[in-house]
Amino acid sequence: MTSVLPIQTQTPPPNAPGAPPLTIRMHADDNVAIVANDGGLPAGTVLADGLVLRDRVPQAHKVALTDIAQGAPVVRYGVTIGRAAQPLAAGSWVHERLLEMPAARPLEGLPLATVRPAPQPPLEGHTFEGYRNADGSVGTRNILAITQTVQCVAGVTDFAVQRIKAELLPRFPNVDDVVALEHGYGCGVAIDAPDAVIPIRTLRNISLNPNFGGEVMVVSLGCEKLQPERLLPPGSIPLVDERAVADIGASEETPLDVVCLQDEAHVGFMSMVESIMRQAEVHLERLDARRRETVPASELVVGVQCGGSDAFSGVTANPAVGFCTDLLVRAGATVMFSEVTEVRDGIDQLTSRATTPAVAEAMIREMAWYDAYLQRGQADRSANTTPGNKKGGLSNIVEKAMGSIVKSGSAPISGVVPPGERARQRGLLYTATPASDFICGTLQLAAGMNLHVFTTGRGTPYGLAQVPVIKVATRSDLARRWHDLMDVNAGRIADGSASIEDVGWELFRLMLDVASGRKKTWTEHWKLHNQLVLFNPAPVT
Ligand code: CA
Repeated sequence: MTSVLPIQTQTPPPNAPGAPPLTIRMHADDNVAIVANDGGLPAGTVLADGLVLRDRVPQAHKVALTDIAQGAPVVRYGVTIGRAAQPLAAGSWVHERLLEMPAARPLEGLPLATVRPAPQPPLEGHTFEGYRNADGSVGTRNILAITQTVQCVAGVTDFAVQRIKAELLPRFPNVDDVVALEHGYGCGVAIDAPDAVIPIRTLRNISLNPNFGGEVMVVSLGCEKLQPERLLPPGSIPLVDERAVADIGASEETPLDVVCLQDEAHVGFMSMVESIMRQAEVHLERLDARRRETVPASELVVGVQCGGSDAFSGVTANPAVGFCTDLLVRAGATVMFSEVTEVRDGIDQLTSRATTPAVAEAMIREMAWYDAYLQRGQADRSANTTPGNKKGGLSNIVEKAMGSIVKSGSAPISGVVPPGERARQRGLLYTATPASDFICGTLQLAAGMNLHVFTTGRGTPYGLAQVPVIKVATRSDLARRWHDLMDVNAGRIADGSASIEDVGWELFRLMLDVASGRKKTWTEHWKLHNQLVLFNPAPVT
C-alpha cells in the first residue's frame, strides 16, 4: 500500500471576479434558484434573464425568481420547501428566516410500489481486485480488527495495538492495518431493554465486516454485561476455510477467540498485552496468506452518505452520486442510502419506488419507529439542520432532504435493512440509520459496507479506519482549499466544466481503483479516522 499515490482532484481555476452571474434552477416548477458564483453576487446584479438582484445573495443561497406572496409556496426540486413568511419580491434573497416549514408528510396513505422505473440494461465487464471471504462477501482491504465487548478494555487494547503495529505488522506485508473496534457500550446499560438489540447486533456485524476476513478476535474484561458469548453466539462466525473444519473435528463452528483481562492467568499489565499480541499473531498469519483476486463490480457494497451539506449538495455531488448509484445497481452491486431524518420528507418518493408493497411497508415501519423515537426526546426531524447547513443556503430539513435523497439515484428500492442488521441482498437498499455522520457510518459498516462515499459542501475531514472513504466536494472552492482532503470535485458541475454523468462515471471508476487498492483516498493517506459511535436508543443505567 505504501507505493499507492493519493488521488489527484481535478479542479478548475476559481471563477474570475466579474465572471458572468450563474444561477441554478433544479425544476421547471421552481420559483427560486441558487447563486453559483464564488463569493455570491452583489445587489444590482443583472441575471441572464434580466432579473435584477434586490439583495446581496451569498453563494449557494436562493433568489426569488418571481414575486412570492406571503403564505405562498416556495418551490425547489419541484417540491414546496416552505411558505413565505412575508411577501418576497422577485430578485430578493430567500433565507431560512423568511420560510415557514411545512408539516411532515403523514405515514398513512402513502403510494406503495406504484412507480415502475424502466428496466436499465445490465452494466457488464467491470471488475475490481478484492479479497474473497468464506461467507461469499468480498473485502476491499485486509485488516485485523480487534473486537471489544466493553469500553473498559479500550486502553489496554490500544496499547497492545500500538505494539502489534510496531513489532508484528512489518512481518505480515499483505495485511493493511490493525484496528481496535473501540466503542462506548458493553456495561452500565440496560442490556435486556428491547432496543439494546440495536447496539449489540451492530457490534456483532461490524466484527464480521468483509474487510476483516472472518478473523474475529475479542478482548473482554470479564465482569461486563455484554459477555463475549452474547456478543458473538455460537454459529455467528462464518468458517474461515475448510481446513478449519478439519482442525476442529466434527464441529461446524469457529470457536470464539477471547482474551479475558480478568483471567487469573494474567499477572500484571504486560501479561495482558502479551496475550493480545499472541492471539493477534495467529490471525495476522492467516490474513497475510490472503491474496486479491479479480471479482465482478457486483461485489461492491457501497454506503453513501452526506455531511456538512450546503445548497450545492443537491445540485452537484449528490446527483453525481445518484448517477453512480444507478451504474452500480446496473452492475449488480449493492448500494445503501440512509439518514432517516434526511429522507423522511421525501417518504412518498421512496415508498413509490419500492419494488414491492412489502418493501415500502418495511420503510414506513422504520420511519414510524424513528418518528416515535424523536417524539420521546421531544424533538422532530427539524432538529437535523445545523448552523453550517443554514450558512450554506439550506433553509430547512425539507430542502436538505430533497437534496439528500438524490444520492439514491433512480433505481427501484429492493430492500430495507434495520439499524445494525447486515444487508442480505443486492441492489439499492434503504439502510435505516440516523443522519449523524459517525452513527450512520458505524451502522453502514455493520450492514457490510466495503466502500464508503461521502459528499460534503461545508467540508468535513470525516474518515473511517475500517473501510476507504471517498470524499466528494460539492463546490470547486472547497475542493481547491481542501485539495488534499477531497477525492472528487463535483463543483465542476456548477462551474459548467463537467456534467453530472462525467462526475458519476469518474466516481464509478475511482471506486473500482480504490476498492482494488490501486488508489488510496486522502483520509487513508493521512489516517484520519473517526470513532465508531453506536446507536443506542435503550436506557443507560
Ligand atoms: Ca450524515
